[in-house]
Amino acid sequence: MKTIGLLVLGISLCLFVLAACTANRPHLWLADSIVSAGLKSDRLDSKHVSLKLPDQVIAASISRSVMKELLDVHAKIDAAAQVHSKLYITNRGHPWPNAYAATLDGVQSIAINLNMLELIGDDKNMYAALIAHEIAHHMKQHRASAALIENIFTHHQETEADELGLQLMFQAGYALSGALGFYEKLTRATEQNTTFLSLHPSGEERLKHIRQVIESLHQE
Ligand SMILES: [Zn+2]
Repeated sequence: MKTIGLLVLGISLCLFVLAACTANRPHLWLADSIVSAGLKSDRLDSKHVSLKLPDQVIAASISRSVMKELLDVHAKIDAAAQVHSKLYITNRGHPWPNAYAATLDGVQSIAINLNMLELIGDDKNMYAALIAHEIAHHMKQHRASAALIENIFTHHQETEADELGLQLMFQAGYALSGALGFYEKLTRATEQNTTFLSLHPSGEERLKHIRQVIESLHQE
């Protein structure tokens, strides 16, 4: 009996490890499809939608209301920027919060990773700040140096995207205090991530500049 018990435990551990491995495989989900597919298949739990890998393993589940809010914010920022971009959710970049701007199959695209969704929660103004920053990279025609995951911009390009992003979210009617809250949260969350820090202007320097831009936009 003992052997059978151990065998069962062994098998379930293997399955668990296998599930954990496949769930970490980088993948992109188109945000529109997540919501529409979720409406068809997730009727048992209408509050959440599942993100499935091609082999049907569930990599994550996201609040349906957050996904709808995200699509709404994305549409409004796209309209303010007069661009038609595609929005993706990705499991890349774990465990750090991150987002990416790149051209995929000839289409301007942005991707938000699961850790970033976790960081922001359900704050629409913070999503507006994030999406506007990524759209700003496209508007300024900043070219990422490699594929989506490694997109690397210069500090100067990051500052430009911060400035234009703030203008866009302001134009789209979002509260700029959300941007400050977002960048403060992001700074705290990435303090230990040396790669992130090397790619972005230092936290304090960035926050100081963001406060200045917000002040000047409020004075206009
Ligand atoms: Zn950026």
